[in-house]
Amino acid sequence: MSDERIVLCNCRLVTDEQSLKAEQLHPFVDIFIERGMITHIERTGTRAYTGYVVHQLAGLYASSGWIDMHVHAFAKHQPYGDEIDQIGIAQGVTTVVDAGSCGADQIAELYDIGQTAQTRLLAFLNISRIGLQRVDELTNMAWMDEQLVAEACEQYGSFIVGLKARISKTVVGDSGIKPLEIARNLAVACNKRLMVHIGSGPPAITEVLPLLAEGDIITHFLHGKVNNLFAASGEPIAELLAAWQRGVMLDVGHGSASFSFATAEVAKQHGIHPNTISSDIYRVNRLEGPVFSLAHVMSKFLYLGYQLEEVIAAVTTRAAAWLHRPELGRMQVGEAANITLFAIEQGEVDFVDSGGEKRQANQLIVPKGVMINDKFFTC
Ligand SMILES: [Zn+2]
Repeated sequence: MSDERIVLCNCRLVTDEQSLKAEQLHPFVDIFIERGMITHIERTGTRAYTGYVVHQLAGLYASSGWIDMHVHAFAKHQPYGDEIDQIGIAQGVTTVVDAGSCGADQIAELYDIGQTAQTRLLAFLNISRIGLQRVDELTNMAWMDEQLVAEACEQYGSFIVGLKARISKTVVGDSGIKPLEIARNLAVACNKRLMVHIGSGPPAITEVLPLLAEGDIITHFLHGKVNNLFAASGEPIAELLAAWQRGVMLDVGHGSASFSFATAEVAKQHGIHPNTISSDIYRVNRLEGPVFSLAHVMSKFLYLGYQLEEVIAAVTTRAAAWLHRPELGRMQVGEAANITLFAIEQGEVDFVDSGGEKRQANQLIVPKGVMINDKFFTC
């Protein structure tokens, strides 16, 4: 539904938690929205609701709309596809970034589908023209057409936020490191940054990391396969530290095969933390796990001992900053209402990683609603 004037009553702000506790203030605020713009954020009860459609939220948290930096939103691809709004607004995510489902051959179709969704869609362009029509898209060098990549970047402007290169054994086959070398050059030529998927080798991770530049993203950085970012001792490998120091970003990209509790625990112990938390969600891992939703993945990071503020920053401000769209990570007066409402529910919950390892936790982040493009949706 679309309402001219909406008030979200009794919300709790994540960023206010500490100061509010300290000051013993009433922790809830009301967020007033007119024609999609936030006009007031005030302590609950200080401003009248007359003339507003009232949504009573009874202490739900409100943050800027969540951003999932790694999804598969091209529904007709098997297995890596899903409906945009199923992995977007239905799960509290107002912006999804498709992580290379499509190359130059299908990016137009993805763009058009995005125009019909309620969720904001952005995309990494797969450097292989065929994208994920096959899951070995870099085995044939003829599928890497540099001219087509350049043309797509030119035509789709800010919709294409970067280039995606899946650099692991089954994807590249005998092509080895060559596709990443081409991707690196294309990134410079097209003025885009790379998102590089890592996994089993060859190529060796020690060959992959030196090719990444400031602003590039490593997705699946907590995978638990051989060829990961940590030595047997648990120490981060030297190439990771060097990449991190030159400004390479670390993204979770949980997926069906790319998140290990053991790796995540070791990473945290050694001070290697995610810049962004993303799901790598698609139909099968949404319905059957181990992903289920971005919120479910975020909850695993609460279990790992990250603060709520850090977990929310990893799906809001940090992702927005990387996208050069800081407004997407803000919830403030005078700006568009791009908001996620969520609860933290207490109770026993079993988490499973991509290798089947289990952890028992006692809280879950549960999305309850979103506000985007002047519309309120319940999750
Ligand atoms: Zn993926």
